[in-house]
Amino acid sequence: MTDSTPDIIYTKVDEAPELASASLLPIIQSFASAAGVSIGTRDISLAGRILAAFPEHLKDDQRVPDDLAILGDLVKTPDANVIKLPNISASVPQLVAAVKELQAQGYAIPDYPETPSTDAEKAARAKYDAIKGSAVNPVLREGNSDRRAATAVKKYAQSHPHRMGDWSKDSKTRVAAMDGGDFRSNEVSATLPKTATAKIVHVAADGTETVLKDAVKYPEGTVVDATYMSAQALDAFLADEIEKTKAEGVLFSLHLKATMMKVSDPIIFGHAVREFLKPVFDAHGKEMKALGVNPNSGLGDLLARVKDHDGIMTAIGAVMDARPPLYMVDSDRDITNLHVPSDVIIDASMPALIRAGGKGWGPDGKEHDAVCVIPDNSYAPVYDAAIEFFKANGKLNPATAGTVQNLGLMAQKAEEYGSHPTTFEIPADGTVRMVLDDGTVLHEHGVDAGDIWRSASTRKAPIEDWVNLAIERQKATGYRSIFWLDETRAHDAELIAYVKPILEAKGVADKFEIMAPREATIASLETITKGENTIAITGNVLRDYLTDLFPILELATSAKMLSIVKLMQGGGLFETGAGGSAPKHVQQLQSENHLRWDSLGEFCALGESFKFLGDVKDNAKARILGDAVEVATQGVLDHDRSPGRKVGDPDNRDSHYWFARYWAEALAAQTEDAELAAHFRPIAEQLADREDEIVAELHAGRGKPVDQGGYYHPDAGKTAHIMRPSPTLNAIIG
Ligand code: NAP
Ligand code: MG
Repeated sequence: MTDSTPDIIYTKVDEAPELASASLLPIIQSFASAAGVSIGTRDISLAGRILAAFPEHLKDDQRVPDDLAILGDLVKTPDANVIKLPNISASVPQLVAAVKELQAQGYAIPDYPETPSTDAEKAARAKYDAIKGSAVNPVLREGNSDRRAATAVKKYAQSHPHRMGDWSKDSKTRVAAMDGGDFRSNEVSATLPKTATAKIVHVAADGTETVLKDAVKYPEGTVVDATYMSAQALDAFLADEIEKTKAEGVLFSLHLKATMMKVSDPIIFGHAVREFLKPVFDAHGKEMKALGVNPNSGLGDLLARVKDHDGIMTAIGAVMDARPPLYMVDSDRDITNLHVPSDVIIDASMPALIRAGGKGWGPDGKEHDAVCVIPDNSYAPVYDAAIEFFKANGKLNPATAGTVQNLGLMAQKAEEYGSHPTTFEIPADGTVRMVLDDGTVLHEHGVDAGDIWRSASTRKAPIEDWVNLAIERQKATGYRSIFWLDETRAHDAELIAYVKPILEAKGVADKFEIMAPREATIASLETITKGENTIAITGNVLRDYLTDLFPILELATSAKMLSIVKLMQGGGLFETGAGGSAPKHVQQLQSENHLRWDSLGEFCALGESFKFLGDVKDNAKARILGDAVEVATQGVLDHDRSPGRKVGDPDNRDSHYWFARYWAEALAAQTEDAELAAHFRPIAEQLADREDEIVAELHAGRGKPVDQGGYYHPDAGKTAHIMRPSPTLNAIIG
């Protein structure tokens, strides 16, 4: 350790987890420093990343270092010990809002150019494109992921089962996916026998060649996929499902991941907006285009642009009346599924609907069955199988259910499905070819204008690391272990060709099953229904989807998951939960000074991070801190100290007080290090003796609006004032 590299880096992020950090981090830093462990921070918030990208536009005292790049280097070293909180994966509307806010605070950064024309605008747009969507995780995830509920968390969920909606055998809820023309059915894949550089070329029908992407480098053994979604097939499918949904008398809903799949999914979303409002676009398309309407930005943006045009508004009203009711994001505020591309995110929205017994909110503010449109059929079968399973068997019982753990292949941007720079909306009919430097045509597709073509890749070293991690975890647990791979899918077949020989060479082939996502979903649900446990060994997309789906069914939330990334170079990255940054929680804090964010994910990650430091640096005090964090986490659960949802309930700040108290008590009680025990004894005593005062101070001012002086770039002083309202607690923490 040098002076400039703290033992542990705690990331600065956005929204609810960042609010929580304002209260929790001072406690962590104080307790750790007593044990000689230093905790630094690095800023990976959306605002921080924007400011870091435009130093030349800023005054000296406004400039910030590129902390994400610094962390990106750190995770490639054995010294890395990073606690990663969830950050915003910005959609365009969020990015634009953050830019406006920073400009209003006096930062002279450029506007986000919707349609860049000058060189300066093109340069700014390129920088903003690198910031939006899932721009952080791929940089930090230099390892594969191991996600599971800590034993204490699972036991708590079993003894305090959360409520689940009932499933009826007559539920009309169903999943609709394309049966052709989608990414799943057009996929081709190959494993490269040697290192190669590829270019992606579009050849138009008239012979014009355009290089879409040049000089993509792949090391030997990389699995390279290519596929496309036919725009025509997509439109026909959407039109058909809108009609069918109307006839079935249920809600129409669309589930995508426009944040992470930042190129493909906003386009698919735009197709849905256009198809839903087709008669309006047919009649007023030109006029709407002149008003700057881009369906990819959603119905919200569209309505804002046409609101003063009575003809268009009347046409929209008529179409909406004739269409099936839309699944709502917020029926009180008339925000539909189609308003903002990033409002409905499949990995959170589908589990919530399944947990509710197959119900979504309609425009009437009541729950209804819904058709869940998931255009691409690669992973739609997971949700389809789950829905059919619960229709047939009734809801899951969290009191008796076992658990599904996950080992996800994600290192070195494995399968960066759509968030990568190799996805394109095709400009003209023709052919897309992927050509290697030796002239080999690796992949080729005939395409039409508007089709969405993409390539994704997965490197050999991460695949091998992932299989070995699976062997390790299977051995450690003895659980039923399933590789979620479909031998009939091109990409998965290449992965199976890696997996099988490794399992055989290690003599453990009989310990593993390989199943397509549909069959694996059914097998996993059957296993946990019996009270047994299973490990889902999956690619990167299912890592994301399943670590929301199963935790939400088992524990009511994915926020409480343990999420460990074993970095391939020997360091550790500890992600806090599998959830996001919970924008709704910020709204609640601002309107009534209640923060319902649960920091259990942070507690779990913190314990693991200290124990990792203890193990790799042979730091006994760090190990003691980590063991005590586990005792404290257990204490928070056993005594029901987690935040409540409503103002008046204890909130995030109360839970941190209790966490600090249990942590101090555990450190005072341990016998391995007398000096540490002596340090924490008076702290534990004061925290207990002054409980009434502290709780009263924490609760002063609840129920009234508060102002942090910004949403994306709040004022640190104002935030600290809101999140650390107890002078007594602050004085004890020191
Ligand atoms: P989300 O923030 O996880 O929110 C979904 C809901 O989950 C919340 O509204 C909340 O439910 C519940 N929740 C999540 N974490 C919680 C916690 N710690 N305590 C209590 N409740 C919690 O998902 P999202 O709305 O899909 O995404 C929001 C933003 O986070 C997006 O910008 C997304 O890209 C980003 N994200 C980042 C990461 C990451 O960096 N690792 C991961 C996922 C998402 P209630 O509202 O019912 O309380
Ligand atoms: Mg997720």
